[in-house]
Amino acid sequence: MRPSRGAPAGEGGFERVDLAGRCIDLQEIDVRKWMMRSRRLFWSCLAVALVLAACATSPLGRRQLLMQSPTEMAAMGIAAFDEMKSTMPRSTNADQRRLVQCVADAITSVLTPEDMGVVVVQGWETELFADDSANAFALPGGRMGVHTGLLNVATTPDQLAAVMGHEVGHVLARHGNERVSQQVAAQGLLVGASIFTGTETPQSQQLMAALGAGAQLGLMKFSRDHESEADHIGLRLMARAGFDPREAVTLWQNMSQAASGQRPPEILSTHPSGTTRITRLRAAMPEALQLYEAARAAGRRPNCR
Ligand SMILES: [Zn+2]
Repeated sequence: MRPSRGAPAGEGGFERVDLAGRCIDLQEIDVRKWMMRSRRLFWSCLAVALVLAACATSPLGRRQLLMQSPTEMAAMGIAAFDEMKSTMPRSTNADQRRLVQCVADAITSVLTPEDMGVVVVQGWETELFADDSANAFALPGGRMGVHTGLLNVATTPDQLAAVMGHEVGHVLARHGNERVSQQVAAQGLLVGASIFTGTETPQSQQLMAALGAGAQLGLMKFSRDHESEADHIGLRLMARAGFDPREAVTLWQNMSQAASGQRPPEILSTHPSGTTRITRLRAAMPEALQLYEAARAAGRRPNCR
């Protein structure tokens, strides 16, 4: 059957679609062949993703799914940071800017090629943004931001070092890459499910909803893993730079206290606090104190004020 352009749809029970101005019956498309090809593509993608997941490991030995190149991630981080610098007000408080820069320099100066791995950093750059929220971040490519409000919660240089070490930890462990990759993989899974089930039946909608919920829960679980890893890496980094790692515990206690106030620190919305976090920090403390003593003995005594 060769329907003419603009022919009414649905004759004989088959839908017609308009492709580039040509009206054709869906019956003409070899749907079965297309489905088989789509399934093969789906399983191939899943297999590639799993191989990648098996290949990459975080600095603490956790297996990771990383699908973006370090160069791409660095470019994304630097572009995002440039955008922030052009839109967010920066602090003009010279003392505070000096303090933040001093702590950042002390931490990034202890990084070795082994710490960096394949992470691409085009020189570390730190900015103090004039923002009352207690927040800090580090982006792929080596860009760090501290909000002036953080200095009300991180009240000593060592506590500030705990936050900045944690943020650098996220970059070294390529958590940004992992989050992007996970989003892509989760979306791929949903696309795969729609290929298998179609999207029109109530059953398939339920399955999609369940998969969506599963993907969400998976991402949340990941986020907790990331925080824990960044805490551990950050604790080691601050100690190696000569900051007292015990101040990390005080910092997160300060954060918890501030969280019970009227304006909870913004950093806690993405960095959950709690007793588990402090228990884990204390468990990692003996190793961190050894690193700290060695750093002090080697003359690393950062004089940040
Ligand atoms: Zn974090």
